[in-house]
Amino acid sequence: MIRASNVDNTFRRKWNREEYLEKARERDERELLEEEERYKPKSRGPIVQRKPLKHRDHEVDLTSRLGKTQVVTQLAPLSQQAGYFCSVCECVVKDSANYLDHINGKKHQRALGMSMRVERATLQQVQDRLESSKRKKGTEGFTEQGQISV
Ligand SMILES: [Zn+2]
Repeated sequence: MIRASNVDNTFRRKWNREEYLEKARERDERELLEEEERYKPKSRGPIVQRKPLKHRDHEVDLTSRLGKTQVVTQLAPLSQQAGYFCSVCECVVKDSANYLDHINGKKHQRALGMSMRVERATLQQVQDRLESSKRKKGTEGFTEQGQISV
């Protein structure tokens, strides 16, 4: 039939193509959102409420094994290996600096159930702290941060 060629029968197809592209765009956006949702830590399982950071309530023992000789074998438990052992994370750190980094670090604090958020101290707490530090000054070799104080 000759008549058929005079009709713009491509119209329908063009429109479909646009609709298709529009749908593809929407799908891309939706997938992107779903992706973001998936990687948001909040959406993964129950929300774990971690406590804010707390200062240590024990002395950091960095020196008790200093200068001692110990036989280290591959078969010895981690806590007997050379270096500093963290019983919370069950890992060994090579030296005291790295050990302090480790116990002040995110992974370790998380294992203790703490977030890295710091609770805001009240004026009274700060004053009490300064007062007790003044009283303690000179009596201990390590500061709260575990650094050696002179
Ligand atoms: Zn640890």
